[in-house]
Amino acid sequence: LASRLPNVGTTIFTVMSALAAEKGAVNLGQGFPDFECDPALVDAVGAAMREGLNQYPPMTGVPALREAIAAKINTLYGHAYDPAAEITITAGATQALLTAILCSVHPGDEVVVIEPVYDSYVPAIELAGGKPVFVQMEVGAQGYSVPWDKVQAAVSPKTRLIMINSPHNPTGSILRPADMQALAAIVRGTDILIVSDEVYEHMVYDGVRHESVSRYPELAARAFVVSSFGKTYHVTGWKIGYVAAPAPLMAEFRKVHQFNVFTVNTPVQHGIARYMADPAPYLDLPAFYQRKRDLFRDGLRSTRLRLLPGDGTYFQCVDYSAVSSLPEAEFATWLTTEIGVAAIPVSAFYNQPRESGIVRFCFAKKDETLRTALERLAKI
Ligand code: PMP
Ligand code: GLN
Repeated sequence: LASRLPNVGTTIFTVMSALAAEKGAVNLGQGFPDFECDPALVDAVGAAMREGLNQYPPMTGVPALREAIAAKINTLYGHAYDPAAEITITAGATQALLTAILCSVHPGDEVVVIEPVYDSYVPAIELAGGKPVFVQMEVGAQGYSVPWDKVQAAVSPKTRLIMINSPHNPTGSILRPADMQALAAIVRGTDILIVSDEVYEHMVYDGVRHESVSRYPELAARAFVVSSFGKTYHVTGWKIGYVAAPAPLMAEFRKVHQFNVFTVNTPVQHGIARYMADPAPYLDLPAFYQRKRDLFRDGLRSTRLRLLPGDGTYFQCVDYSAVSSLPEAEFATWLTTEIGVAAIPVSAFYNQPRESGIVRFCFAKKDETLRTALERLAKI
């Protein structure tokens, strides 16, 4: 069979989790919590199952959940999406991203992606017949930032989409109001669409504000905004998320969605809709993760790994150049096998070979897991 994705292997997250399990390493590689979600959320889903809410929901998602999402976005970001026409429930953010790309990118269209880039974007663009055009983030004393002049230079008459991700995986960087204004200036007067991956919207630290695209009417008018309950509610295995977009874009999204998954798990949708009545779980998330992040960062300070700046997500990147000159993938394998801590090489987020001596750790872990990992990392 001639491959549709000849350059794609097994994702780095699966590879490193398998290696961590094989070697009995502490898995700070793949991003997922090692602690339980709120039992009240499980109870809400169980109750929906017992009530018999077990058949197909509407193709676009359970109305109560779409309404809860619309209300949340309106309260937090001040944009009133119509839950009937402008919000769709998806099988995680991954499916939302794929579907947004498939419904908007025609063969030959260009899509601007900013590296380091989450590994699902480029294969999705290629499946649509699109051509990714890469712009690399720059690293300075303040951490990673997007060079908007280079994004502007990457735009051509063929550009159909610009993909953004804030808070950003793997760097933890966050787009600021000036970034949003720069993006708005680039797309103004064009028909370029935006896919905004906001799965870490509730993981922002040090009082920094999440700049959702939905805060900016000019951007929201041309954007698919994607989020994931897996991240927010500590249930990555439930694979449930959503996309919000203006009605004409959403109509096209739904044409693809209905023949892709058609719809998403009914009782989980009802359970989450009820659980969302209380905003505390997501409003408290920054404080919850900031404590873990500070614990992890404080511990790393007494190792030979150098912390990179970042204000969001549950990831921490470190520069290991004082420890080793191995390429990133080899260093991550060595760290997993010999030191017993799994990490993700940041080179996996680049499409051209690139070595910066940086790996990513996930700190969405029990304190004891983080302490065990820190004890081991202190030895290198
Ligand atoms: N986008 C980014 C930036 C992510 O980090 C992830 C999860 N690792 C996803 C999308 C996918 O989210 P989901 O598990 O809901 O499909
Ligand atoms: N998004 C998660 C990460 O960055 C992994 C998700 C996956 O395994 N596909 O670690």
